[in-house]
Amino acid sequence: MEERSSPELKRSRAEAHPIPGIRYSPQRPFGTLAAEDSCIEVMIKPKTETNETSSQNVIACSIANGKSGEAPGEVVPSDFIRDIVAADLAAGKHKQIHTRFPPEPNGYLHIGHAKSICLNFGIAREFGGVCNLRMDDTNPTKEDVEYVDSITEDVKWLIGDWADHCLGMKPKGKTPETQEVGGRSDYYLPPVEQSPIANRQSPITHRPSPIVEPFYASDYFDQTYEYALQLVKKGLAYVCDLSPEDTDKYRGAPDRPGQESPWRTRSVEENLDLFVRMKNGEFPDGARTLRAKIDMESPNIWMRDPVLYRIRHAEHHHTGGRWCIYPMYDFAHCLSDYIEGITHSICTLEFEVHRPLYDWILQNLDLPRPLPHQYEFARLNLSFTVMSKRKLLQLVNEKLVSGWDDPRMPTISGLRRRGVTAGALRAFAYNIGITKYNGLTDVAVLEHAIREDLNKRALRRLAVLRPIKVVLTNYPEGKTEELEATNNPEDPAAGTRRLPFSRALYIEQDDFMESPPPKYFRLRPGGEVRLKYAYIIKCDEVVKDAGGRTIELRCTADLDSKSGGPTANRKVKGTIHWVSAAHAIDVEARLYDRLFTVAEPDASGDFKQHLNPHSLEIVTAKCEPSLKDAKADLRYQFERLGYFTLDKNSQLPAGTAPLVFNRTITLKDTWAKEAAKR
Ligand code: ATP
Ligand code: MG
Repeated sequence: MEERSSPELKRSRAEAHPIPGIRYSPQRPFGTLAAEDSCIEVMIKPKTETNETSSQNVIACSIANGKSGEAPGEVVPSDFIRDIVAADLAAGKHKQIHTRFPPEPNGYLHIGHAKSICLNFGIAREFGGVCNLRMDDTNPTKEDVEYVDSITEDVKWLIGDWADHCLGMKPKGKTPETQEVGGRSDYYLPPVEQSPIANRQSPITHRPSPIVEPFYASDYFDQTYEYALQLVKKGLAYVCDLSPEDTDKYRGAPDRPGQESPWRTRSVEENLDLFVRMKNGEFPDGARTLRAKIDMESPNIWMRDPVLYRIRHAEHHHTGGRWCIYPMYDFAHCLSDYIEGITHSICTLEFEVHRPLYDWILQNLDLPRPLPHQYEFARLNLSFTVMSKRKLLQLVNEKLVSGWDDPRMPTISGLRRRGVTAGALRAFAYNIGITKYNGLTDVAVLEHAIREDLNKRALRRLAVLRPIKVVLTNYPEGKTEELEATNNPEDPAAGTRRLPFSRALYIEQDDFMESPPPKYFRLRPGGEVRLKYAYIIKCDEVVKDAGGRTIELRCTADLDSKSGGPTANRKVKGTIHWVSAAHAIDVEARLYDRLFTVAEPDASGDFKQHLNPHSLEIVTAKCEPSLKDAKADLRYQFERLGYFTLDKNSQLPAGTAPLVFNRTITLKDTWAKEAAKR
């Protein structure tokens, strides 16, 4: 398989590539893309190296009219999977690209899934295709509707206003249709139109849209069973009575051939009879399995008569008590792909060794439509993070976090609650790229994407996390003035607001030091500092309590130093933030940090021993009064402190409880500084 992006592939990709309004222009360097209308400019440029990607290129699109779903400056990546898709389209292999995202509903989605979602929906979006959301629910004991609901919500959030027009769902309750194709009977379940977006052509043509739901592998249990019967009838599958332990033992090892099951030579009639009786519930769990008859000497262990069906007398979250035999992932997955008309079945590298089985199953059934193909890419591993759902579940069950959506969790719902936007996650997924090499991505890459995104959108506000009082002795008592403050220097359209200023203020405790080290440019006894948007002040007196703790600073303001005043341009080295004591509102600020203290928490031993004891600190902060109208869908930068967002549970009727703000991230990477020190 060709992995690198050749210019030819890029060209064919660009030609096949229907982002509305963008066409390929061969005259430009690097195979530049030109826009059909002048306000779109697209350019292929070499990708800067990240820790995970080396030889990729990125198509950087600046889509000024915003029609193509992403804000101006959109980056559309190029990678070996997209190259394959482009080549397939150019060769006329498919009329429309159809991908799928198939999570097992046994936990909440995490940032690794976000990578897969961005890839699968990104391809559908860039190539005018569809991406089905499918619950891969073939294991009755671990799956739950709570997970189905959270997965659906997370996917919709992550692709919202970006690829939601490509989301493939099906009518509620619908199961595959039986159709005739070329004289052969066939099962097919197409998607329905989800959420067509005005002025964007939906690639899905079925209408009108009924009530829809995700696809479920468990909706195909009838069809999967029929396909299993076909294999049995062809002598390609048999009922095996080996115990689970013996099945394992007989399978051998990669360096040792397997051993044939004594039940391998059963007649077709006997196999049919036993398989039907397995389905009818005549045998207990583990008593028998249905196995493919392939090759016990195959060097690929997955081809050594793999189990296709096992007996499980268990309620299933979607099919209830209807079934007591359940197909294995390998059997159900390729058939689900086929039934849904998937063209490119994209999964993570560990499934590469399963691909021969994927193909064997499909090729040995008489399937009349084109077969799907599987492609693999490296999963995301992120430093300072555990990603396996099993481990995340442990954190939840052992109450080491407050739930799946605890803002310290790497889950999509946790990141969302923490204030990370869908755009930042998509930018991250694009930046790290798609490769075939497993590696560890530095969490700083994610944090960088979050900061970049928030810097552009966050409204600046003044807040003091650890307050100390300042009294301006030369400022009239009872006087309040309103000072003008910029909402977002990155976005002039965000305008300004009025900040109340008065005689008593709060500043941050660590913006004052009695005996500071050299190069400390904040407040000290006898020293001067500028209050942001306000006056220069000088510290005259330090007031302490009986225990010697500083409780108040008595200062004088240079009343001419405000913006526009005679001494406004006077230079002082430090500028600090403040709030007016009389006007400040109290809020609960939850200061989150990395959940683990080491880069690879699950490298050895119990990952929980590396939990960061300081991953959450809660303080009562003093904030400028405009924050009482904070909105959960907006992002805030508390100046000099970090990015914050209103917690989703903090929308009580005004005044009934303090507002709760989650710190999404600090302004600077404090961990890098710590690491450098060490
Ligand atoms: P986990 O290993 O975390 O329990 P999983 O692989 O069992 O996850 P699934 O629900 O089966 O999770 O995954 C759904 C899809 O997401 C699959 O196609 C899988 O390949 C992909 N996926 C899962 N984890 C990652 C990851 N870390 N990076 C990229 N893709 C992932
Ligand atoms: Mg899985």
